Amino acid sequence: MTTSAPPSLPAHTTDEVRSVLADPLLQELHHGLGGPYHLLFPGRFDTNAAAFRAAMAQAGVDGQIYFAKKANKAAVYVERAAALGLGVDVASHGELREALAHGVRGTDVVVTGPAKSEQLLRVAVLQGALVAVDALDELDRVLAVASDVGRTARVLLRRLPSVQPHSRFGLDAGETEAALRRCADRDGAVDLEGFSFHLSGYDVRQRADLAGESVRLCRRARELGLRADRVSIGGGFAVDYVGARDWRRFSEEQRPEHYHAGKAFSGFYPYHSPVAGADALRAVLAATPAGEHASLAGLLRSAGVRLLVEPGRALLDQAGCTVFAVQGVKEREGYAILTVDGTSLSLSEQWFESEYLPEPVLVPGTPYGDRDGPYPACVGAATCLESDLLTWRKVPFPVRPAAGDLLVYLNTAGYQMDSNESPFHELPLPPKVVIEHPVDQSAAARPRWRLDRHP
Ligand SMILES: *Cc1c(COP(=O)(O)O)cnc(C)c1O
Repeated sequence: MTTSAPPSLPAHTTDEVRSVLADPLLQELHHGLGGPYHLLFPGRFDTNAAAFRAAMAQAGVDGQIYFAKKANKAAVYVERAAALGLGVDVASHGELREALAHGVRGTDVVVTGPAKSEQLLRVAVLQGALVAVDALDELDRVLAVASDVGRTARVLLRRLPSVQPHSRFGLDAGETEAALRRCADRDGAVDLEGFSFHLSGYDVRQRADLAGESVRLCRRARELGLRADRVSIGGGFAVDYVGARDWRRFSEEQRPEHYHAGKAFSGFYPYHSPVAGADALRAVLAATPAGEHASLAGLLRSAGVRLLVEPGRALLDQAGCTVFAVQGVKEREGYAILTVDGTSLSLSEQWFESEYLPEPVLVPGTPYGDRDGPYPACVGAATCLESDLLTWRKVPFPVRPAAGDLLVYLNTAGYQMDSNESPFHELPLPPKVVIEHPVDQSAAARPRWRLDRHP
């Protein structure tokens, strides 16, 4: 049987990650921790946050960055957010507790998510957090909590985007108008600070248009005597995982024979994005929203409106990776099935009926010697589920993988590593290891590690 070689899809990486991949630390940690683990690079989080700040400063826009906590459960990123003076976007009482416990001020928290629990609303109002109200009945509950605790609730009204009319989040035009009137009537119990939205997908144009619309709504709210001086455009700043040429080639050539069991996926996450991260914010700010004659940055400035952003994935770009060990190698016709010491629950994408495509890097446990290659292999989990594969695709590894090698999935901090994790089969959850590089780069400085403080 002749089959075409599966197209390769190498993941972008950084010098910091490359230096860790080349360090004996990787095998030492595998030995010491006795199973799969995640690496976290807080320095990269700082760099990403600085890039978002620079994008706002260069556009002359006053703004605030809220790290969307749901993208990763680790403590270290929230610690960095606290130390850098970033805000945090939380959507549960547990996330709020984590943010406050790691030093983020209550006034620097925005609470999003639908129909927030009573406990979450009470603590949020008492802490002076900004609450993105998702429904009219929720606004009534916020008002009740505010009068109960004798505080003014800081509120944004979340909009149902007209471009995503089937979204289950947000208030439509009629509900927004009703909410504005309720806020105006209850002056003192509530401070209506502005409007918010969060779009799925990564479209720049849609974000600029909705932001423009939200600035107009601020003017309308001010007519009713409300403050309305900020607009949150949510998250959804793309991450560029793989190169343009590799992605195009992959998209054109991939077919079921390139996957174990001839598996076909109906679609994949857009792993290549020509405009990503802080550059995507730049593009949104530079765009002229529909019905306007100035850029969004200009509109925000002239209306005296502060821009809030809630990036999750983009702040975690290159800020983590996930390490599994190969436990066994089994031959099939023309490829191997690797079994690693963890599950696809530590890589998430299979749980959206898709696959995390950026290719894992093979780190040899023993010198390659005369192992032959390239060698295609898929990656199965250490579980008894037929469908539990981390990678169905026959990845073209440079040599034939062997037990004791490590497989490192790159750039997994944003949603991949822990959003679906479970101790299925009594397998322990992979611990998180924080990697910091010594300030003194002079000597043969090796990376330093510690365990993340999140249990
Ligand atoms: C998930 C979410 C975000 C973060 O989205 P990313 O795509 O990770 O940037 C921001 N705001 C809200 C309301 C969210 O639900």
